[in-house]
Amino acid sequence: KSVIFSGIQPTGAFHLGNYFGAVRNWRDFQNRIERDNIDSKLLFFVADLHSLTVSQDFNTLYRKRIEAYASLLACGLDPHKATIFFQSEIPEIPKLQWILSCICGMGQLNRMTQWKSKANLRKDANIAEELGKVKLGLFTYPVLMAADILTFNATHVPVGKDQSQHLELTRDLVDVFNRQTKSDFLHSPMTLLAPTMKVLSLKNPEKKMSKSDSDEMSKVFITEDAKSIRRKFNKALTDSIEGKITYDPVKRPAVSNLIAILAAAEGKPIKTVAKEVQDFTKKELKDAVSEAVIKELKEPAERYNQLMKDPVGLDKWSRLGSEKARSLASKNLKVISHLTGMGWW
Ligand code: ATP
Ligand code: MG
Repeated sequence: KSVIFSGIQPTGAFHLGNYFGAVRNWRDFQNRIERDNIDSKLLFFVADLHSLTVSQDFNTLYRKRIEAYASLLACGLDPHKATIFFQSEIPEIPKLQWILSCICGMGQLNRMTQWKSKANLRKDANIAEELGKVKLGLFTYPVLMAADILTFNATHVPVGKDQSQHLELTRDLVDVFNRQTKSDFLHSPMTLLAPTMKVLSLKNPEKKMSKSDSDEMSKVFITEDAKSIRRKFNKALTDSIEGKITYDPVKRPAVSNLIAILAAAEGKPIKTVAKEVQDFTKKELKDAVSEAVIKELKEPAERYNQLMKDPVGLDKWSRLGSEKARSLASKNLKVISHLTGMGWW
């Protein structure tokens, strides 16, 4: 039986990257599994412990967690069909993180790119020197992520490209764990890469669109109104290349990003869309992207507003999710705990 597992941080409202790169695919899995009657468990979580790896205002974090939970439901995840929960409500996860920390090498973490980009290191930075300024939690983020996955012994993890390196590390840790405990209890989780490309910042195509980017104009939120979506795409960076619109992520990253977003919103292959827009002006391309995105986000935005008016309902769903998740987590941790020479708890 497969266990499909993924999470999202409550570091801000969801943007198009989260939606096309992650949450929309989760919803599609959920619906396909139901339609085809596939025997598979689905778990999705709000990664609130992960969000502590960058500095947070704890008062607003509380609200952002709830907004993230509501956003998952708004995007079509259904608590009847999937287990949807808060990471911090599962105490088995930090316990497994400790066990994994004791088999994970510092060098393995040193090679990860995420802490380097989140710590805003310069390309020529002296890593050894910069490490001293990096928080332990940010550095060991990938071990917490491995613990999330392995607490539920997930078989498939749908993530964006930015997370594939962490999945590789998780598989390495599974190999070490199984070898050292002479067992095959932990599954090696497969990465399910989202079919869409990584969505880039509307202001700087060298960066991915990211919740923690302080420039609001760089991202479009899933709950944004039509007027503001149009404004952001209108002000999106393009390039100074004249003539036809072409899809070329290397030479024309900003224009290609708009084409990719349009393709994702219309559910068409990039190639097809690139042909359709080749004679557009850049303004026409931006208008087409805006309208397609507005249409795609209409339902999630409406649902979100409804859910946020019902805190009691949200609380009820999240409790149910945590209970379901904990019962699975505690079953697995008992075995893992025993395999590592601890008691059965
Ligand atoms: P943060 O900046 O706080 O890390 P984020 O925008 O990167 O936030 P996460 O919560 O880290 O969002 O990631 C949630 C999911 O969204 C992950 O599966 C990740 O791969 C995916 N994702 C995030 N940004 C993008 C993007 N720009 N394009 C495609 N997928 C993305
Ligand atoms: Mg991220």
